[in-house]
Amino acid sequence: MLRAAASAGRSETLARYATDYPTGPHDQPQSMCPAFGSLRVGLRMRRTATVLSGSACCVYGLTFTSHFYGAKRTVGYVPFNSETLVTGKLFEDIRDAVHALADPALYDAIVVTNLCVPTASGVPLQLLPKEINGVRIIGIDVPGFGVPTHAEAKDVLSGAMLAYARSEAEAGPVQAPRAGPASRPTVTLLGEMFPADPVAIGRMLEPMGLAAGPVVPTREWRELYAALDCVAVAAIHPFYTASIREFETAGRPVVGSAPVGLDGTAAWLESIGAAANVGATAIDAAKAAVLPAIRRALAATPIRGRITVSGYEGSELLIARLLIESGAEVPYVGTACPRTRWSEPDREWLEAHGTTVCYRASLEQDLAALADLGPDLAIGTTPVVQAAKEGATPALYFTNLISARPLFGPAGAGALAQVVNAALGNGARMAAMKAFFEGVGSGDAAGIWEDMPREHPDFRRKHLARMRKAAALAEEIP
Ligand code: SF4
Repeated sequence: MLRAAASAGRSETLARYATDYPTGPHDQPQSMCPAFGSLRVGLRMRRTATVLSGSACCVYGLTFTSHFYGAKRTVGYVPFNSETLVTGKLFEDIRDAVHALADPALYDAIVVTNLCVPTASGVPLQLLPKEINGVRIIGIDVPGFGVPTHAEAKDVLSGAMLAYARSEAEAGPVQAPRAGPASRPTVTLLGEMFPADPVAIGRMLEPMGLAAGPVVPTREWRELYAALDCVAVAAIHPFYTASIREFETAGRPVVGSAPVGLDGTAAWLESIGAAANVGATAIDAAKAAVLPAIRRALAATPIRGRITVSGYEGSELLIARLLIESGAEVPYVGTACPRTRWSEPDREWLEAHGTTVCYRASLEQDLAALADLGPDLAIGTTPVVQAAKEGATPALYFTNLISARPLFGPAGAGALAQVVNAALGNGARMAAMKAFFEGVGSGDAAGIWEDMPREHPDFRRKHLARMRKAAALAEEIP
């Protein structure tokens, strides 16, 4: 696919992706179709239409998943066959579709995404008009063979939108934010986060005379201008390389890590204060306003146990930091995202606290950590959680249960401890379930019966023994 795309004239885009999203040691982390990331970003934006160009099976999967995750918007699709693909008719069909959609009363922007096959065939979305009737047209290639994770695909679209918005802002006046221009200098927050987190960060910034700016990916086109019009950018998620390039081109300083836990918050406030040039007194005031409350929250909700963390959201290192500051032992963090300089403070802090950090981690590495380290709790992706539960180890699904709650400030410390401690307390229940289900789905208890089943001579004896063991373990559940 890579060779086909290169010979079809997409070498420049693929070379940029190879630099922005470096692979290795593991080339293709086992995550979902990367286009899901950019699709979701587009679907969450007001007045934005999304159009996919790709194989019908891929589009079916992507639309299914986006609606499963609550998208309430239509996903446009321009179908193709081998003839329209090779004759260039597919490009004409896409152009016609975009012209038909471009109603300025409905849309600020239309995002057209080439999936694997049209990218490999070189369908030239860059030749689409830049705007039609005032509606901006953004064409992006998001192939599985060029963008390693769905997390980084969010950056592909965000970077393309920021580049477009930056060129508009450079050319003349642009729309103000919906709530009007900010009264204080703002810090743009890079990376999707729990809705209460920007509010908490805004409070932390207040003593420095700063405010929280928009979160990128934004929810509306006009927020892109406000995001660019900041005093500094906080790369809360460290993999937004293309977006960071746009901010740096606009002359905005970028700060890595995040205000997580006590050490992380203190260091982050210092870095933001330095980037915004607010002076030591203001930085000290900001620290004095929030650090005691975080210290109290961490002390009030301690976490005791050994926990492994793996995920593909980009916030894995931050979660691990908060767990350790809450008292947990975290020997391993695996992330599907690449190593970038924006997560270096977190990597250094974690390694100093005895954690092995594995970037571009494969499922095999995550499972090996689970097997070797024997954690009391595994926080991970679906297959890691499944493996942990099979072994009667309590487990939490990273995406739904960990990254869907506050992470920053005193609220972050308390919220994480609540869910983690509840899961850690499930050890006895997991052991009882394992005893109850032991053997189900393996050996003669798996597969399809081709004849009328007959009772195995040992069945009653084994079944009764299993039931007794499960009942004994259930007695121990607090
Ligand atoms: S990675 Fe490519 S082939 Fe796989 S579902 Fe996504 S677009 Fe289709």
